[in-house]
Amino acid sequence: MRTVDRRKFLKYCVNSAAALGLSQSVVGRLQVALAADAVGLPAVIWLACSNCTGCTVSLANRISTDHPTDIADLLVNTIDLAYHPNLMGAAGDLAVDTLYSAANGQYVLAIEGGIPTAFGGNACMLWTDDGHDVTAMEAVQVLAPNALAILSIGTCAAYGGIPGGPASPTGVMDVRTFTGRPAINIPGCPVHPDWVVWTIAQLLAGNPPALDSEGRPTALYARSVHDRCPRKGTQEASTFAEQGRCLKAVGCKGPETRSDCPTRLWNGGANWCIGANSTCIGCTSSKFPHGWSSFYKGQVV
Ligand code: SF4
Ligand code: SF4
Repeated sequence: MRTVDRRKFLKYCVNSAAALGLSQSVVGRLQVALAADAVGLPAVIWLACSNCTGCTVSLANRISTDHPTDIADLLVNTIDLAYHPNLMGAAGDLAVDTLYSAANGQYVLAIEGGIPTAFGGNACMLWTDDGHDVTAMEAVQVLAPNALAILSIGTCAAYGGIPGGPASPTGVMDVRTFTGRPAINIPGCPVHPDWVVWTIAQLLAGNPPALDSEGRPTALYARSVHDRCPRKGTQEASTFAEQGRCLKAVGCKGPETRSDCPTRLWNGGANWCIGANSTCIGCTSSKFPHGWSSFYKGQVV
């Protein structure tokens, strides 16, 4: 069985906590753990429910100068990702056995996508157990109660997202509503890989992040995109592709959307939506997309 380099991950936790200006007590606790090498890492069980796998693709695209530098570093040296239907090497019964084995210990449950509840849950099946198709509903019902923490990965898990639109017949529920537990919402369509890695690091430090009224870590989602947008205060563009102008008049949702995209950027700091002359489409908001789109209200004729 693969061993996890706990010291390396703890060092990352110390660095990320300090870089984010977190309290000295958090940094101190991590340093104590690093010195003693005493913190055991829980496994991470990742379920892919009603989703497009975009959040997994985003995580796989992590590029950073900080440890873990990329997805290989994350999987090989840092977290113990016991089960992930797309990223693990095992398949079939071996993968399911690995999941059950991890579920007997301590684990963090990461759920990508919402949970379809219509048709007895049969719109989404995750694996087969001795001839029985296990639905996402069943899997979450069994695994959620004993999880140390639950992470709602991406907007679909956090709020329902695209599969949860009113036009969908599958009855998708967000993770918090379905489980009745205060899952940590990490919305984004897709989620930023740094947001996932940072949140897991905080949990490892024994420091569950402070959450806002929508269950999101305030350290990541406290301010609106508009707040820190470099185009704030510039003349508004009247059409698309006008370089450097505010995009509000062409539909930018930055003023209503909270995330640190303007300062964090994407793809290892290469660029971000507005930097690429696209509007912010509000992908981290609970209103995304059906709160803003008549298509998802079933109003298209
Ligand atoms: S482009 Fe969007 S986020 Fe930027 S200033 Fe204009 S409305 Fe705000
Ligand atoms: S800028 Fe807006 S649409 Fe783009 S990733 Fe950030 S929150 Fe989502």
